[in-house]
Amino acid sequence: MPIAGSSKFLAKDVILLGEVAARGAAMLELRCGRCERRGRLSVQRLLAEYGADASVRRAMQAQIGDCPNRDHSQLQSRCDPYCPGLARLFGVTSLPR
Ligand SMILES: [Zn+2]
Repeated sequence: MPIAGSSKFLAKDVILLGEVAARGAAMLELRCGRCERRGRLSVQRLLAEYGADASVRRAMQAQIGDCPNRDHSQLQSRCDPYCPGLARLFGVTSLPR
């Protein structure tokens, strides 16, 4: 599966920062499914930091970096960052996590 490059299509399980920006989103809301951590991220800042070909998931995991559960040895207890507005932005009811 191509991560970077010229794909015009939304890959099944990867959303790129460039695709979010192309849909006009200025901010992404970030939440953790396992703790109270939340925040708002500037899409422009994420683009500058990671590039348009970086996946949103990767950027979120980097941004939630100080969460105490990020590297928990049990997968079920590990931090689970997501963007609640992202599915709506892409016109679907849910996105693969
Ligand atoms: Zn967390």
